[in-house]
Amino acid sequence: MSDQAYDSNNIFGKILRGEIPCHRVYEDADTLAFMDVMPQSPGHLLVIPKVPSRNILDADPAVLSKVIPVVQKLARAAKDAFEADGITVIQFNEPASGQTVYHLHFHVIPRYEGQALKPHSGQMENNEVLAANAEKIIGELGN
Ligand code: 5GP
Repeated sequence: MSDQAYDSNNIFGKILRGEIPCHRVYEDADTLAFMDVMPQSPGHLLVIPKVPSRNILDADPAVLSKVIPVVQKLARAAKDAFEADGITVIQFNEPASGQTVYHLHFHVIPRYEGQALKPHSGQMENNEVLAANAEKIIGELGN
């Protein structure tokens, strides 16, 4: 299990409650997907379940079964929207692994042959770029 209990005061909890904005690309009854503000590659997005859990260690398997098909849907859309060679899906659990926000999330990151990722939680992207990238993915989902 997780080392600590879920704390609803985390950034993604605030996004889910509409207390802070995000560049949303997809939402259904169980999940939300939005752009990462510090992308490791253009089109880097996050998929989260609406039901709270700190990470995969304390998540309900029934929730995971709802989230993974959405991760796949967004991975396909991001690959096409960004003409990527591949997609990296990353999911961190607890600080030792690199987790910094304690609401379960899956990173979906477009990748290109021979191109390294930018640092995790590195540089903030500007809003216009994030908005345009979100539109690309939304456009692809509509196809
Ligand atoms: P973790 O290390 O927990 O897997 O990653 C958290 C991710 O959330 C990082 O990639 C970071 O760039 C992203 N992030 C941090 N704060 C915000 C925010 O306020 N909004 C969005 N959309 N992403 C955030």
